[in-house]
Amino acid sequence: MPLLLLCLSFLPNLHAQAIPYSRPVETAPQAETIGGGYKTPVVQKPLPRDYWLQVMDVFLLAAAMGISVWLVLKRRSRKWAVALTIGSLAYFGFYREGCICPIGSIQNVAVALTDRAYSIPMVVTAAFFLPLVVALFYGRAFCGGVCALGAIQELVVLKPVRVPERLDRALGLLKYVYLGLAILLAIKPALGRDFLICRFDPFVGFFRRTGAPHMLLLGGGFLVLGMFVGRPYCRYLCPYGGLLAWCTRLARRGVTITPDKELDCGLCAEACPYGAIDHLRAVRKDCLYCARCYDSCPRGRS
Ligand code: SF4
Ligand code: SF4
Repeated sequence: MPLLLLCLSFLPNLHAQAIPYSRPVETAPQAETIGGGYKTPVVQKPLPRDYWLQVMDVFLLAAAMGISVWLVLKRRSRKWAVALTIGSLAYFGFYREGCICPIGSIQNVAVALTDRAYSIPMVVTAAFFLPLVVALFYGRAFCGGVCALGAIQELVVLKPVRVPERLDRALGLLKYVYLGLAILLAIKPALGRDFLICRFDPFVGFFRRTGAPHMLLLGGGFLVLGMFVGRPYCRYLCPYGGLLAWCTRLARRGVTITPDKELDCGLCAEACPYGAIDHLRAVRKDCLYCARCYDSCPRGRS
């Protein structure tokens, strides 16, 4: 219901989606109106991505999540889930350079809800809501092989240690603090507004092959840590992960370690690098859809 109300709150902004983008250089006074021999400088920056390509990205995002649900819940295949992870990292990460990004869109959505002068493109709105809607029904399919930030961490997991439960729970609260702070800074008046999540995205520097040295170091630090602590950014800092976790509480389907009857041998809990198995059952809000537990299960192997 809160999600539906949030969707409805965007309706007044729909008209803004029809306004075609116009580069300032085309709407600004031109050489002939300025006079005095003024020459309009050549525009060097690339034009924004074509609208149909942006829409295609949203369809690809939706398709990738559909595939993630199918591979993990139906096929129960770790091998193909890894293939999807690599594909998403290549496309959404390195080719699209971290765009489209539902994580950063939290801030755009927060500003659009609080500032009538600010509206966001439908593609950003869709990117924000789609993973949440999927999580409402099937769990965190977006985190399993679709999100580029999750994918890059997924692929470096080497020898994960088990984080003590209390520490894991305490660190897990950080993402909600980060979420609150990011929203507070985003909804400030336009002049003092700050998009914290984007400024401190640890992996976008790798995707764009450029970035501030301290951010590249931070990203590198997360990847090194991620070899021994499964997906540290996802579990402890990602603000969108907090929203997804909340949505999964309503999900009717999610990872079940064996289709019919658990063996209660504990092999799955040992195999899960994310501490997402409690009492030998997958915990939906923490399960990152990696499908490792299937491989470890004598009954669940695909
Ligand atoms: S927790 Fe956040 S960073 Fe990790 S996969 Fe999910 S959305 Fe992406
Ligand atoms: S329970 Fe753990 S191992 Fe199984 S899919 Fe979820 S995160 Fe992966």
